[in-house]
Amino acid sequence: MNPSSFAYERASSVAEAISLLEQHGDGAKLIAGGHSLLPIMKLRLAEPERLIDIGRIAELQGVRVEGNELAVGALTTHHQVATDPAVQSASPLLADTASRVGDRQVRNRGTIGGALAHADAAADYPAAILALEATLVARGPQGQRQIPAREFFVDFLTTALTPHEILTEIRIAALAAGQGWSYQKLANQASGYAIVGVAAIVILDANGACAEVRIGVTGTAAVAWRADAAEAALRGKALDADAIAAAARLVTEGIAPLDDLHGSAAYRLRVTEGLTRRAILEATERARARG
Ligand SMILES: Cc1cc2nc3c(=O)[nH]c(=O)nc-3n(C[C@H](O)[C@H](O)[C@H](O)COP(=O)(O)OP(=O)(O)OC[C@H]3O[C@@H](n4cnc5c(N)ncnc54)[C@H](O)[C@@H]3O)c2cc1C
Repeated sequence: MNPSSFAYERASSVAEAISLLEQHGDGAKLIAGGHSLLPIMKLRLAEPERLIDIGRIAELQGVRVEGNELAVGALTTHHQVATDPAVQSASPLLADTASRVGDRQVRNRGTIGGALAHADAAADYPAAILALEATLVARGPQGQRQIPAREFFVDFLTTALTPHEILTEIRIAALAAGQGWSYQKLANQASGYAIVGVAAIVILDANGACAEVRIGVTGTAAVAWRADAAEAALRGKALDADAIAAAARLVTEGIAPLDDLHGSAAYRLRVTEGLTRRAILEATERARARG
């Protein structure tokens, strides 16, 4: 099916894009890589009257290192996130996650900002963004604000961004010594989307026990989440197989799993527990190797 007809305008700066959003109201929609928006427009699940193309705004592109922090511009493509040496070194979890999004065409066009703003239940990045405790920087008519990852994903296809705000960059603290990471994913074989995706960061204390573990989960439910109960179960503990398995059993506590043609609710719960166990184990091994 073809999309409904729409007007098209290209913004050359963030300020211009915000002003166009304000001017045209609810009928206007931003377009970045177009790899989520155009498919839903073709299905007529979205029928914007006007597209505001932000795809060539230079200030939204590329990766910067600022002290101990990585700043990834919203227009950075999945391929760039996956292959950028600064991202690979400071945030291997983010680079690995990006490398496993969709296929080559999707990775070459789709952007990290578009993926996060779209907030598909089966998107890969939310798991990593939550485990990394990233900060999402947004700019709107009232100026700039920083949104902690925990507050960003609100519901199915819904984020904390207000209608006239643009996600401009994602800020992530660099991985330090004694910290390890992992992303475990059960991918939909046709699209690559995560039926379940679990990201873990493990931080060891001076004795090699768990100072902190952070677990982000995507795919299982309508919205990605931090697995607080599983994390609390490991804090201060020795990271052995039994403790990790016991914590993984708590990962879906309080979660209403999706139940659809890609997987029943019971299957998703089982897979989420298994991938959580694997993610913590691998992150622990990597943390020990970096100790
Ligand atoms: C075949 C296929 C397979 C895919 N497989 C996967 C997969 O395995 N894993 C995965 O995670 N994703 C997958 N995707 C989705 C892909 O990652 C998209 O690139 C991504 O979801 C959207 O990024 P985009 O730049 O294309 O955004 P667009 O499609 O241009 O925009 C998406 C939405 O975000 C808004 N938006 C875009 N940029 C901004 C911004 N800076 N600030 C505020 N709002 C903004 C737009 O208005 C729109 O509502 C797949 C897509 C396809 C077509």
